[in-house]
Amino acid sequence: VIMHVDLDAFFAAVEQRDKPSLAGRPVVVGGLGSRGVVATASYEARAFGVRSAMPTAQARTRCPGAAFLAPRMSAYRETSAQIMRILAAHTETLEPVSLDEAYLVTTGGSGVGEDSSARAAAVGRTIRREIRTHTGLAASVGAARNKLMAKIASELAKPDGLRVVEPDEETDVLSPLPVRALPGVGPATESVLTSIGVRTVADLAAIDPADLVGLLGQAHGLGLSRLAHGDDDRTLQPDRAARSISAEDTFETDVYDMHVAADLVDRLADRVLARLTAHGLGARTVTVKARTTAFVTLTRSATLAAATEEASHIKATAARLLNEMPVRDGLRLVGVGVSSLEPWRQGTLFGPEPLDETGQVVPRPPARSVAPASQRPYLPGEDVEHAIHGRGWVWGTGLGRVTVRFETPGSEPGPVRTVAEDGNLWRVPLGASPFGPAAGSFES
Ligand SMILES: [Mg+2]
Repeated sequence: VIMHVDLDAFFAAVEQRDKPSLAGRPVVVGGLGSRGVVATASYEARAFGVRSAMPTAQARTRCPGAAFLAPRMSAYRETSAQIMRILAAHTETLEPVSLDEAYLVTTGGSGVGEDSSARAAAVGRTIRREIRTHTGLAASVGAARNKLMAKIASELAKPDGLRVVEPDEETDVLSPLPVRALPGVGPATESVLTSIGVRTVADLAAIDPADLVGLLGQAHGLGLSRLAHGDDDRTLQPDRAARSISAEDTFETDVYDMHVAADLVDRLADRVLARLTAHGLGARTVTVKARTTAFVTLTRSATLAAATEEASHIKATAARLLNEMPVRDGLRLVGVGVSSLEPWRQGTLFGPEPLDETGQVVPRPPARSVAPASQRPYLPGEDVEHAIHGRGWVWGTGLGRVTVRFETPGSEPGPVRTVAEDGNLWRVPLGASPFGPAAGSFES
C-alpha cells in the first residue's frame, strides 16, 4: 500500500502555530513586494478566494484583513525535517516530494489474509497523531495501491483527514474529478480536452486511446489514458533530491503567434515557481524548451549569477530565452525548467522587495554600500526580541520604529507595541518554536 502524506496549508499553519494571535485567522505567506506571489494561504484566507501562486496584490484585495507574512524558511525546514523523521520511522521507502509532502510504502504485518487497507488506515492514524503531537500541525493522509490514487486520496482527505481508497472504489473516486486532477494535465492540455467535450476523468476514460494519441501525441496521450483508468506504475524514488523542476504543455493547435507562446511560458513559469517555493529552493539555471511543428525540439538555457527564487528574474529569463529561439515555423509545445537548485539563502529569505509601513517598496541600497544583514529592514512575520518586552514578531515597520506583537509559541495572544529600532531590539534567528530542535541542528 502506498501512502501520500501532505500537510495542510503548511507555511501558513506553521505561522498560526508559532503566532498565537493568528490561530483561526486568515494568514497569507508569500512575497510581499509589488510583484510577489502567494506561497501558501491558510484555510481562513482561502475562504476569501486567496490561492497559491496568485499575485499578493490580488490577495490583499480579496482578503484585506489577512496577516501578510514573509516566509520563515528556516522554521519550515526545521519542521519538515521533524515530519520526515516521523515518516521514516514507519517505512523503509520514503520519497519526500517537497517540504510538506511525501510518499511512503507502509510496512509491517505484511501477510496473507491480513487486511492491508485496515493496516494502512492504522498506520495513517498513527502518523497523523505523531505529526500533531510533535509539530502541532495537521497532516492529511491518503492510502491506495499506487501513487496516483494515494495522492488523490490525500486530496480528498483534506483538511485534517485520512482516506483509504480500495481498488474497487477507484473508478467511483476518479470518475467525477476534473481532468486537471491528473498529473500532466496543465491549462493547455485541459483546453485541448475541453474542446472535444472532455471535462471529467470519466469523459477521458471513455475516449479511445488512439484518439488521445492523435490529439496529444504518443507518450502524453497513452499516459493520460492509463491515468484516467487509475493505472500508474511509477515507483517510489527514495533518494531523489530535486535536481530540476520543469513544466511543459502542448498547444491545442500549432502556434505561430509568439505572444501566445510567451503567455504560456509565463504560466508554466508560475507552476515551476510554485514548486520551487514548496521545496524551499532557489534556482541558478533556467531552461526553455520548444518543439516546432516539424517536431524539432530546441532548448536554450541561461545560468544566473546567483540562485534566485524571485519570480520576476526567472520569468524574464524564460521570456528572453524563448525570444532567442529560431521558431518562426510555428510551435507545438513549450516547456520551462529550472536547475542548479539551492536552498534559499539568508539574504533572500525575506524576499527581494521589502515594504515600508505605507506598502511602498523600500529602495535597494546601491550595490557598493549593501547594508549588512543585521541592518536590512525588519519584515512582517520575522521573530524578534526586545530587551524590556521580550519575544515577539514583526507586524510592521517604518520611520525607525517597529511594531511588534509580543507573543511566543504556546503563549496567550499578546499585545501589540511600537518600539524604537535600536539596540534594545534584535532578531531571533530560529528556535522560537517549542516544537523544534535547537536552532540549526538539522542543517549541516
Ligand atoms: Mg501541503
